[in-house]
Amino acid sequence: MRSQILCNLKAPLRHRALVQPTVFPRSHSTFAPKNSRSAPGSTVLRAAPTIPFFGAFFSSNKPEEPSGSMSYPDQRSDDQWRAVLNPEQFRILREKGTERAGTGEYDKHHPTKGVYNCAGCDAPLYTADHKFKSGCGWPAYFDSIPGAVTRHVDNTFGMKRTEIVCSNCGGHLGHVFEGEGYSTPTDERHCVNSVSLRFTEDQGAGKAAEKSKA
Ligand SMILES: [Zn+2]
Repeated sequence: MRSQILCNLKAPLRHRALVQPTVFPRSHSTFAPKNSRSAPGSTVLRAAPTIPFFGAFFSSNKPEEPSGSMSYPDQRSDDQWRAVLNPEQFRILREKGTERAGTGEYDKHHPTKGVYNCAGCDAPLYTADHKFKSGCGWPAYFDSIPGAVTRHVDNTFGMKRTEIVCSNCGGHLGHVFEGEGYSTPTDERHCVNSVSLRFTEDQGAGKAAEKSKA
């Protein structure tokens, strides 16, 4: 049996691997001087182009970033989101809320096939094959559809966690936890609010996938 504290979205992290960022930026484009965009105070960038660590402060391509610093293909305003989301969806997707444990529509939902799309923008995020029974009170997935989910450092509640959002609209999904000992291919647990998801059968998901590629 797994202790409940591991399953709590707001539980402190036990695993150092989550506290220490292990991935550095893949893009080194910020090392190059950009004379046309130089501004007061930017000389430090030009003065230290050979120190890779500086890139960690200035790159815009970090795998994990402070939430809100990225732009997403779907750029709807809050008012536009309020027009298409119900209040609970808006609270969770757009204001990073959390549904109560054990109450979500997809917590104990284990179809043999199908896709879980973003409840905001309908982008496909997870397949039924990614879902596993964590016993945590929220839908759990060991992986996502490639590129569908973006990770951010989340420092709220005095903890350092990894938030996951929809890569298309930036909608808040939940958090991802690593190294908890689940017997899954990744030993990652994408702990996702049911409210952030909308399940579809395969044929509907296919259309959504096509739309997301266009
Ligand atoms: Zn979305």
